Amino acid sequence: MRFISTRGSETATGAEAVVRGMAADGGLFVPERFPSVTEEELGQMLGMDYPERAALILGKYFEEYPAEELLGALRAAYGTFDGDDPAPLVKIEDGLFLLELFHGPTCAFKDMALTVLPYLLRKGCDLLGIKEEILVLTATSGDTGKAALEGFMDAKGVKVAVFYPEEGVSKMQKLQMCTQDGENVSVVAVKGNFDDCQSAVKKIFRSEECREKLKEKGILLSSANSINFGRLAPQIAYYFSAYCDLVTSGQIAMGAKVDFSVPTGNFGNILAAYYAKRMGLPVGTLICASNHNNALTDFFNKGIYDRKRSFYRTMSPSMDILISSNLERLLFELSGRDAALTAERMKSLSSAGKYTIRPEELKQLAETFYAGFASEEDTVECVYEFFEDFNYPLDTHTGVAMHVARGYARKRAEDVNAESRPMVVVATASPYKFPQAVYYALTGNDVKDSFKGIKRIHLITAMKVPESLKALRYKPLRFKTVVSPDKIFDEVMNFVG
Ligand SMILES: *Cc1c(COP(=O)(O)O)cnc(C)c1O
Repeated sequence: MRFISTRGSETATGAEAVVRGMAADGGLFVPERFPSVTEEELGQMLGMDYPERAALILGKYFEEYPAEELLGALRAAYGTFDGDDPAPLVKIEDGLFLLELFHGPTCAFKDMALTVLPYLLRKGCDLLGIKEEILVLTATSGDTGKAALEGFMDAKGVKVAVFYPEEGVSKMQKLQMCTQDGENVSVVAVKGNFDDCQSAVKKIFRSEECREKLKEKGILLSSANSINFGRLAPQIAYYFSAYCDLVTSGQIAMGAKVDFSVPTGNFGNILAAYYAKRMGLPVGTLICASNHNNALTDFFNKGIYDRKRSFYRTMSPSMDILISSNLERLLFELSGRDAALTAERMKSLSSAGKYTIRPEELKQLAETFYAGFASEEDTVECVYEFFEDFNYPLDTHTGVAMHVARGYARKRAEDVNAESRPMVVVATASPYKFPQAVYYALTGNDVKDSFKGIKRIHLITAMKVPESLKALRYKPLRFKTVVSPDKIFDEVMNFVG
């Protein structure tokens, strides 16, 4: 499979797309065409375990990677998860399911891809004969950073530098990152919000000068953010796997359509669902759920993406994003793969702060997507009521997705012609990862200390506490540096020595 840039004529192999992270023209790599999964293959997937299902999907994009080796790498990656199935589908009631993606080492869905990315990257370098050291440069709203640090810890030939917004992550996320082990890692707080942090990091990727300076030190840049196709591909697999689980458990007939509700920030997770649909998975509607930072809700409903708006810190911090990078990949498809138009819109977004799509494009979007948002009150109420009704503690991100899924269900119920379809809500984090917010949602009370929060949630819900979070309490803080966004590159140079 060849890859092309969303903004120009640049092309790459799968290995090159992963190693480079993004195209030099500022665009993102997308497959030259969507590989299809036939009904027969989908049928075969029913009898497979998770790593085999994922290997089938990934193999279609990364044809130059040896199939057996890829499967082995997937087995090893998902072997680090708690339990046999890294992405279990939990039935809540008839027609409502949770796809739990938080059983990995860092308790959020980012592990689904970031435990696999190190293999894709290392093997990619081998295939390309690259001898340089790789610097994985990452901006994080909290969860990507930790998952990347954990995934690449002490990996040979790789260094990881993570930048997070000083005030924009939860205490637990900060602790997870700042206590990270490993000799090849660096964690730095950046003044400002996630968008400031992400923009500054993206600037380094686009700068010839920065790349040159690193090259002089024998270092190549790559990214662990979802702009990297190597992040996206493993995420496609769990949509297929969830579908297979619905069929094998007798919940749906093969070929029936399923809706997915996804708590969205950088538009990576839901984009993977869209890719699954384009590959042939019977998907009905994709529900794009935002929190109070609802630029995407407006985009899907009005056709205007406007980043010039207030930024809110919410109880679902991993979704506190104004500029959703991966939307560029959807825009590219929407425009009929018009790279010039996509480039123009992205330019308009950075200079004027917004862009508008054509009315027919907006109509086309509505065929696949429904978008809505949850206010902080909505989220609290949803988490509270869900626990009351089903004895299941949602984390606050998943609470956002559940709230918006319910809004969509009400709308569909009004339509007499709409057939009923199962709804899968994507559960992106363990409630223990955001203990203060979840405890507040469950009880209306504040708890000052995260670990106390964990204890109390456990008392109320009896849900098992992940060992990795418990252990944080006794780990020393290793990283304390705070810089302004314009100093990020200096930090990078310091780190690589
Ligand atoms: C990253 C993250 C999201 C948002 O996912 P995107 O791929 O950025 O849209 C949602 N929930 C949690 C817990 C996350 O870590």
